[in-house]
Amino acid sequence: MPYSEQHVTSVRKWSDKTFSLTTTRPSNFQFENGEFVTIGLRPEGKLIARAYSIVSTNDADYLEFLSIHVPEGPLTSRLAQVREGDTVWVNSKATGSLTLKYIRPGRNLYLLSSGTGLAPFMCLIRDPEVYKTFERVILVHTVRTVPELAYKAEIEALTNERLFYVPTVTREPFKTPQRGADLFRTGELFTQLGLPQADPEHDRVMICGNPDMNKEMSTYLEHHGWVFTTHRGVGNFTTEKAFVLHNS
Ligand SMILES: Cc1cc2nc3c(=O)[nH]c(=O)nc-3n(C[C@H](O)[C@H](O)[C@H](O)COP(=O)(O)OP(=O)(O)OC[C@H]3O[C@@H](n4cnc5c(N)ncnc54)[C@H](O)[C@@H]3O)c2cc1C
Repeated sequence: MPYSEQHVTSVRKWSDKTFSLTTTRPSNFQFENGEFVTIGLRPEGKLIARAYSIVSTNDADYLEFLSIHVPEGPLTSRLAQVREGDTVWVNSKATGSLTLKYIRPGRNLYLLSSGTGLAPFMCLIRDPEVYKTFERVILVHTVRTVPELAYKAEIEALTNERLFYVPTVTREPFKTPQRGADLFRTGELFTQLGLPQADPEHDRVMICGNPDMNKEMSTYLEHHGWVFTTHRGVGNFTTEKAFVLHNS
Protein backbone atom coordinates (compact mmCIF):
# COMPACT_ATOMS: atom_id res chain seq x y z
CA MET A 1 0.00 0.00 0.00
CA PRO A 2 1.61 3.30 -1.08
CA TYR A 3 0.01 5.46 1.65
CA SER A 4 1.19 5.48 5.23
CA GLU A 5 -0.17 7.34 8.23
CA GLN A 6 2.20 10.08 9.42
CA HIS A 7 2.04 12.32 12.48
CA VAL A 8 1.69 16.06 12.16
CA THR A 9 4.55 17.60 14.13
CA SER A 10 3.73 21.29 13.63
CA VAL A 11 1.25 23.61 11.97
CA ARG A 12 1.94 27.20 10.99
CA LYS A 13 -0.73 29.57 9.79
CA TRP A 14 0.44 32.25 7.36
CA SER A 15 -2.84 33.90 6.37
CA ASP A 16 -6.55 33.06 6.34
CA LYS A 17 -5.86 31.26 3.03
CA THR A 18 -2.54 29.52 3.64
CA PHE A 19 -0.78 27.36 6.21
CA SER A 20 2.13 24.93 6.43
CA LEU A 21 2.42 21.64 8.16
CA THR A 22 5.28 19.34 9.01
CA THR A 23 4.90 15.59 9.41
CA THR A 24 7.02 12.59 10.18
CA ARG A 25 8.59 11.03 7.07
CA PRO A 26 7.76 7.49 5.94
CA SER A 27 10.88 5.35 6.34
CA ASN A 28 10.80 4.09 2.74
CA PHE A 29 10.10 7.47 1.17
CA GLN A 30 12.65 8.78 -1.35
CA PHE A 31 12.23 11.85 -3.55
CA GLU A 32 14.10 14.39 -5.63
CA ASN A 33 14.13 17.98 -4.42
CA GLY A 34 11.34 19.84 -6.28
CA GLU A 35 8.98 16.86 -6.57
CA PHE A 36 5.40 16.49 -5.35
CA VAL A 37 3.54 13.70 -3.61
CA THR A 38 -0.09 13.06 -2.77
CA ILE A 39 -1.22 13.50 0.81
CA GLY A 40 -4.66 13.02 2.27
CA LEU A 41 -7.09 12.45 5.07
CA ARG A 42 -9.68 9.75 5.69
CA PRO A 43 -12.54 11.73 7.23
CA GLU A 44 -15.14 8.95 6.89
CA GLY A 45 -12.78 6.11 6.13
CA LYS A 46 -12.46 7.00 2.46
CA LEU A 47 -9.19 8.62 1.43
CA ILE A 48 -9.33 12.17 0.03
CA ALA A 49 -5.88 12.89 -1.38
CA ARG A 50 -4.35 15.74 -3.39
CA ALA A 51 -0.98 16.58 -4.94
CA TYR A 52 1.42 18.62 -2.77
CA SER A 53 4.89 19.86 -3.58
CA ILE A 54 7.40 19.05 -0.87
CA VAL A 55 8.87 22.09 0.89
CA SER A 56 11.43 20.15 2.95
CA THR A 57 14.65 18.90 1.35
CA ASN A 58 15.28 15.21 0.73
CA ASP A 59 17.96 15.06 3.44
CA ALA A 60 15.51 16.10 6.19
CA ASP A 61 13.96 13.49 8.48
CA TYR A 62 10.55 15.23 8.29
CA LEU A 63 8.25 16.40 5.50
CA GLU A 64 6.87 19.91 5.12
CA PHE A 65 4.01 21.16 2.96
CA LEU A 66 2.59 24.61 2.19
CA SER A 67 -1.17 24.50 1.72
CA ILE A 68 -3.98 26.61 0.43
CA HIS A 69 -7.22 26.62 2.44
CA VAL A 70 -10.15 26.35 0.04
CA PRO A 71 -13.22 26.77 2.33
CA GLU A 72 -15.34 24.31 0.30
CA GLY A 73 -12.39 22.16 -0.80
CA PRO A 74 -12.85 18.43 -0.11
CA LEU A 75 -9.35 18.10 1.35
CA THR A 76 -8.24 21.51 2.55
CA SER A 77 -11.47 22.43 4.37
CA ARG A 78 -10.43 19.51 6.63
CA LEU A 79 -6.65 19.80 6.39
CA ALA A 80 -6.85 23.37 7.72
CA GLN A 81 -8.32 21.92 10.97
CA VAL A 82 -5.46 19.46 11.51
CA ARG A 83 -3.36 20.05 14.61
CA GLU A 84 -0.06 18.78 16.01
CA GLY A 85 -0.45 15.12 16.99
CA ASP A 86 -3.12 14.41 14.36
CA THR A 87 -2.29 12.20 11.40
CA VAL A 88 -2.28 12.59 7.61
CA TRP A 89 -1.76 9.97 4.92
CA VAL A 90 1.33 10.35 2.77
CA ASN A 91 1.98 8.49 -0.46
CA SER A 92 5.48 7.12 -0.84
CA LYS A 93 5.71 7.76 -4.57
CA ALA A 94 6.91 11.24 -5.56
CA THR A 95 7.13 12.70 -9.04
CA GLY A 96 7.32 16.05 -10.83
CA SER A 97 9.02 18.19 -13.41
CA LEU A 98 10.67 20.83 -11.24
CA THR A 99 13.86 18.95 -10.48
CA LEU A 100 17.41 19.54 -11.69
CA LYS A 101 16.95 16.70 -14.20
CA TYR A 102 14.32 18.77 -16.02
CA ILE A 103 16.59 21.69 -16.80
CA ARG A 104 19.96 22.15 -18.47
CA PRO A 105 22.78 23.59 -16.35
CA GLY A 106 23.33 27.30 -16.91
CA ARG A 107 24.20 30.75 -15.59
CA ASN A 108 21.15 32.15 -13.75
CA LEU A 109 18.19 30.04 -12.64
CA TYR A 110 14.89 31.95 -12.42
CA LEU A 111 12.26 30.40 -10.15
CA LEU A 112 8.93 32.12 -10.88
CA SER A 113 6.14 31.30 -8.44
CA SER A 114 2.74 32.49 -7.37
CA GLY A 115 0.76 31.53 -4.26
CA THR A 116 1.51 28.03 -3.00
CA GLY A 117 3.66 27.53 -6.12
CA LEU A 118 6.49 28.67 -3.85
CA ALA A 119 6.58 25.21 -2.21
CA PRO A 120 8.91 23.28 -4.57
CA PHE A 121 11.25 26.28 -4.80
CA MET A 122 11.61 26.44 -1.01
CA CYS A 123 13.10 22.99 -1.37
CA LEU A 124 15.33 23.83 -4.34
CA ILE A 125 16.83 27.03 -2.89
CA ARG A 126 18.21 24.96 -0.01
CA ASP A 127 19.72 22.26 -2.23
CA PRO A 128 23.55 22.61 -2.54
CA GLU A 129 23.40 20.86 -5.96
CA VAL A 130 21.46 23.83 -7.34
CA TYR A 131 24.39 26.13 -6.55
CA LYS A 132 26.83 23.69 -8.18
CA THR A 133 24.70 23.80 -11.34
CA PHE A 134 23.94 27.55 -11.52
CA GLU A 135 25.87 30.72 -10.73
CA ARG A 136 22.84 32.50 -9.30
CA VAL A 137 19.30 31.64 -8.27
CA ILE A 138 16.52 34.25 -8.47
CA LEU A 139 13.35 33.37 -6.57
CA VAL A 140 10.29 35.47 -7.47
CA HIS A 141 7.13 34.97 -5.39
CA THR A 142 3.88 36.76 -6.22
CA VAL A 143 0.88 36.79 -3.90
CA ARG A 144 -2.17 38.95 -3.35
CA THR A 145 -1.67 39.98 0.28
CA VAL A 146 1.42 40.46 2.45
CA PRO A 147 0.70 37.59 4.93
CA GLU A 148 0.66 35.19 1.96
CA LEU A 149 4.41 35.77 1.55
CA ALA A 150 5.04 32.48 3.31
CA TYR A 151 8.61 31.80 4.55
CA LYS A 152 9.61 35.42 3.80
CA ALA A 153 11.87 35.76 6.84
CA GLU A 154 13.52 32.37 6.22
CA ILE A 155 14.17 33.19 2.59
CA GLU A 156 15.57 36.62 3.43
CA ALA A 157 17.95 34.97 5.89
CA LEU A 158 19.23 32.68 3.10
CA THR A 159 19.80 35.41 0.50
CA ASN A 160 23.37 36.23 -0.49
CA GLU A 161 25.24 37.16 -3.67
CA ARG A 162 24.04 33.90 -5.28
CA LEU A 163 20.43 33.80 -4.07
CA PHE A 164 18.13 36.74 -4.89
CA TYR A 165 14.59 36.97 -3.51
CA VAL A 166 11.90 39.13 -5.12
CA PRO A 167 8.58 39.05 -3.23
CA THR A 168 5.72 40.88 -4.96
CA VAL A 169 2.21 41.68 -3.66
CA THR A 170 -0.57 42.66 -6.05
CA ARG A 171 -3.58 43.60 -3.91
CA GLU A 172 -2.06 45.45 -0.95
CA PRO A 173 0.48 48.26 -0.76
CA PHE A 174 3.95 46.78 -1.12
CA LYS A 175 7.30 47.96 -2.44
CA THR A 176 6.94 45.70 -5.52
CA PRO A 177 3.30 45.62 -6.67
CA GLN A 178 3.87 44.06 -10.11
CA ARG A 179 3.31 40.41 -10.88
CA GLY A 180 6.56 38.44 -11.16
CA ALA A 181 5.69 37.34 -14.69
CA ASP A 182 5.35 41.00 -15.74
CA LEU A 183 8.67 41.93 -14.12
CA PHE A 184 10.32 39.17 -16.13
CA ARG A 185 8.67 40.07 -19.43
CA THR A 186 9.34 43.80 -19.21
CA GLY A 187 12.94 43.16 -18.17
CA GLU A 188 12.44 45.26 -15.03
CA LEU A 189 13.43 42.28 -12.93
CA PHE A 190 16.93 42.17 -14.38
CA THR A 191 17.41 45.94 -14.18
CA GLN A 192 16.27 45.96 -10.54
CA LEU A 193 18.68 43.20 -9.59
CA GLY A 194 21.57 44.47 -11.72
CA LEU A 195 21.65 41.22 -13.71
CA PRO A 196 21.97 40.72 -17.47
CA GLN A 197 18.67 40.29 -19.35
CA ALA A 198 17.58 36.64 -19.18
CA ASP A 199 18.91 34.84 -22.23
CA PRO A 200 17.82 31.34 -23.35
CA GLU A 201 21.38 30.50 -24.27
CA HIS A 202 22.72 30.98 -20.73
CA ASP A 203 19.79 31.14 -18.33
CA ARG A 204 17.05 28.76 -17.20
CA VAL A 205 13.51 29.19 -15.89
CA MET A 206 11.27 27.09 -13.67
CA ILE A 207 7.62 28.11 -13.26
CA CYS A 208 5.16 27.03 -10.59
CA GLY A 209 1.98 28.98 -10.15
CA ASN A 210 -1.65 29.31 -11.02
CA PRO A 211 -2.63 27.77 -14.37
CA ASP A 212 -3.01 31.19 -16.08
CA MET A 213 0.44 32.35 -15.02
CA ASN A 214 1.99 29.07 -16.16
CA LYS A 215 0.33 29.30 -19.54
CA GLU A 216 1.09 32.97 -20.04
CA MET A 217 4.77 32.59 -19.13
CA SER A 218 5.22 29.39 -21.16
CA THR A 219 3.73 31.05 -24.25
CA TYR A 220 5.94 34.11 -23.75
CA LEU A 221 9.11 32.05 -23.33
CA GLU A 222 8.35 29.84 -26.34
CA HIS A 223 7.89 32.96 -28.46
CA HIS A 224 11.24 34.29 -27.28
CA GLY A 225 13.49 31.38 -28.11
CA TRP A 226 13.19 29.30 -24.96
CA VAL A 227 12.68 25.52 -25.21
CA PHE A 228 10.31 23.67 -22.91
CA THR A 229 11.53 20.37 -21.45
CA THR A 230 9.53 17.44 -22.88
CA HIS A 231 10.08 13.73 -23.43
CA ARG A 232 11.95 14.79 -26.59
CA GLY A 233 14.67 16.46 -24.57
CA VAL A 234 15.76 18.67 -21.71
CA GLY A 235 15.26 22.33 -22.52
CA ASN A 236 15.89 25.59 -20.75
CA PHE A 237 12.53 25.97 -19.01
CA THR A 238 10.14 23.70 -17.15
CA THR A 239 6.83 24.17 -15.34
CA GLU A 240 4.43 22.59 -12.89
CA LYS A 241 0.96 23.82 -12.10
CA ALA A 242 0.54 24.69 -8.43
CA PHE A 243 -3.06 23.53 -8.79
CA VAL A 244 -5.64 22.48 -11.37
CA LEU A 245 -8.74 24.50 -12.15
CA HIS A 246 -11.38 21.79 -11.68
CA ASN A 247 -14.34 24.07 -12.11
CA SER A 248 -13.34 26.07 -15.17
C1 LIG B 1 1.30 18.98 -9.29
C2 LIG B 1 0.48 19.68 -8.23
C3 LIG B 1 1.10 20.16 -7.07
C4 LIG B 1 0.35 20.82 -6.10
N1 LIG B 1 0.99 21.31 -4.99
C5 LIG B 1 0.27 22.00 -4.07
C6 LIG B 1 0.91 22.57 -2.92
O1 LIG B 1 2.13 22.44 -2.72
N2 LIG B 1 0.14 23.27 -2.05
C7 LIG B 1 -1.22 23.42 -2.24
O2 LIG B 1 -1.87 24.07 -1.42
N3 LIG B 1 -1.83 22.88 -3.29
C8 LIG B 1 -1.13 22.18 -4.20
N4 LIG B 1 -1.77 21.62 -5.27
C9 LIG B 1 -3.25 21.69 -5.30
C10 LIG B 1 -3.80 20.55 -4.43
O3 LIG B 1 -3.56 19.33 -5.09
C11 LIG B 1 -5.31 20.71 -4.12
O4 LIG B 1 -6.00 21.15 -5.26
C12 LIG B 1 -5.54 21.70 -2.98
O5 LIG B 1 -4.96 21.18 -1.82
C13 LIG B 1 -7.03 21.93 -2.71
O6 LIG B 1 -7.62 20.69 -2.43
P1 LIG B 1 -9.18 20.63 -2.07
O7 LIG B 1 -9.60 19.20 -2.10
O8 LIG B 1 -9.44 21.38 -0.80
O9 LIG B 1 -9.87 21.42 -3.26
P2 LIG B 1 -9.86 21.04 -4.82
O10 LIG B 1 -11.20 20.48 -5.19
O11 LIG B 1 -8.65 20.22 -5.16
O12 LIG B 1 -9.69 22.48 -5.46
C14 LIG B 1 -10.79 23.38 -5.53
C15 LIG B 1 -10.38 24.62 -6.27
O13 LIG B 1 -9.53 25.39 -5.44
C16 LIG B 1 -8.56 26.07 -6.19
N5 LIG B 1 -7.22 25.66 -5.70
C17 LIG B 1 -6.79 24.41 -5.45
N6 LIG B 1 -5.52 24.42 -5.01
C18 LIG B 1 -5.15 25.71 -4.99
C19 LIG B 1 -3.94 26.35 -4.63
N7 LIG B 1 -2.87 25.64 -4.20
N8 LIG B 1 -3.88 27.68 -4.72
C20 LIG B 1 -4.95 28.39 -5.15
N9 LIG B 1 -6.13 27.84 -5.51
C21 LIG B 1 -6.22 26.51 -5.43
C22 LIG B 1 -8.80 25.68 -7.64
O14 LIG B 1 -9.61 26.64 -8.24
C23 LIG B 1 -9.52 24.40 -7.54
O15 LIG B 1 -10.32 24.14 -8.68
C24 LIG B 1 -1.05 20.97 -6.27
C25 LIG B 1 -1.67 20.46 -7.42
C26 LIG B 1 -0.93 19.86 -8.40
C27 LIG B 1 -1.62 19.34 -9.63
